[in-house]
Amino acid sequence: MMKSNEDVDTISLARFLEALYGSGLRATDPRLVEFSARLGNLTEDMVDRITFKNLVEPNIAIISRAFRRKFIIPDFTAFASRLDDIYNQCVNVTDGNVASYIPELAKADPNCWGYAMCTIDGQRHSLGNCTIPFTMQSCSKPLTYAIALEHLGADGVHQYVGQEPSGRIFNALALDIDNKPHNPMVNAGAILICSLLQNLVHFEMSFEQKLAYIMQHVQKAAGGEFLGYNDDVFLSEKCTGFRNYALAYLMKEQKCFPEMADVEEVLSLYFSTCCIESHCESMSVMAATLANGGICPITDEKVFSSATVRDVLSLMHSCGMYDYSGQFAFKVGLPAKSGVSGSLMLVIPNVMGLALWSPPIDRHGNSCRCLKFCELLLQEYNFHPYEHMGHATIKKRDPRMYSHHLQESTVLHLLFYAAAGDIGALRRHYLAGFDMSLGDYDGRTALHLAAAEGHLDCVKFLVEHCRVPCDPSDRWGHSPLDEAKGFQHPEVEQYLSTHLKNG
Ligand code: GLU
Repeated sequence: MMKSNEDVDTISLARFLEALYGSGLRATDPRLVEFSARLGNLTEDMVDRITFKNLVEPNIAIISRAFRRKFIIPDFTAFASRLDDIYNQCVNVTDGNVASYIPELAKADPNCWGYAMCTIDGQRHSLGNCTIPFTMQSCSKPLTYAIALEHLGADGVHQYVGQEPSGRIFNALALDIDNKPHNPMVNAGAILICSLLQNLVHFEMSFEQKLAYIMQHVQKAAGGEFLGYNDDVFLSEKCTGFRNYALAYLMKEQKCFPEMADVEEVLSLYFSTCCIESHCESMSVMAATLANGGICPITDEKVFSSATVRDVLSLMHSCGMYDYSGQFAFKVGLPAKSGVSGSLMLVIPNVMGLALWSPPIDRHGNSCRCLKFCELLLQEYNFHPYEHMGHATIKKRDPRMYSHHLQESTVLHLLFYAAAGDIGALRRHYLAGFDMSLGDYDGRTALHLAAAEGHLDCVKFLVEHCRVPCDPSDRWGHSPLDEAKGFQHPEVEQYLSTHLKNG
């Protein structure tokens, strides 16, 4: 940590930057624009206080949050390196095949593998092929759905399309019981969404303008980062996507579309949205915007309303992973969307967004490596929404800021109960799975407090049932036995010394 006291006249920029970027901020972060520009003008490593002050002043809010460890993942370096390990473990997954039903997609390199993450505080990290563009394919579906919701509201959209998992393959020739497409995450539903965008949103726009409008929206969600368009894949889909034609005409026959919809135009818009290109870096920001209630973490721009995001995430959760959505919800429990180009967008609400990309996909259409990554991530971290923070039997890691607070407050409670001699409360905490040996900032444990206050029953409970270590030292080098002696509780003293002697 940097010192800022009066004795320090100069500061090393290299060390300062190491700490700043270690927090997960990037030099290219829009919230550091002035800082990065001023930094570019400095040539020396050691700078004086005035120069340093001028450097950080325009972006002091975000810089000071970084140094006060106020981001959602306080120990970002450790977290990122664990995710890199998970990424590396997935290299061994060689299952699946590159999608071939769209001829252009068959050209993808099966060895490509990349991931990127962006937290709700804009902490970034990536590894592997994270800047190679891929077509978004079905990963565009949550975004087109979000744009439609923004303009038409949930009722406006859902009079045309359902909210139910289809239980069928993504491009199944099937509608729901009301003759509507099942949901906006499968092909029929997404084609329907395109008909709404085409006909009920800015009807005055030409086809090109409409596509540009959609792309602008998506790019805002990506914090202005990379977005491209792949004309070859578009032509490939348009010439060979007969199933999508069949779906669209089935829906036309069933009067699913708004009246004035032109099927060919609707399909062209649908194919175009599938052919928007992004890469892991930019897609991770889109996912982070969804994790952050619609506000892009790196630009602070409100891209979608929180109601829109809630609806999008709900359907990603239940329908985002093709015919594997139920199993994914069971194992991972998080909203996600995958596409046949091998990409996967994973949203950890209120924490971060992840984008993963590896072209070989399984029979459902999900990338095999990406799936493995999600499963390993959830095996290690307690991101599953139904995983209880305190009472879980298998303790998983929680890298979030508030977990520290949670732990601190639990320790305070434990110490309080021990000091008060409330053995019932200690028992409940023990049964709930809390670590009874935890100490506070000064290294004081429940056993110290119980011994200092002479609560023999609590001391016995902690030692015999909870099997806490008997002689932990606090910051003054005092053990529970010292406490019992110092505060003159001979029974406790006797008990602890016998116990220590007997090992
Ligand atoms: N463009 C593809 C199709 O419509 C998208 C499929 C997908 O990623 O699920 O068939």
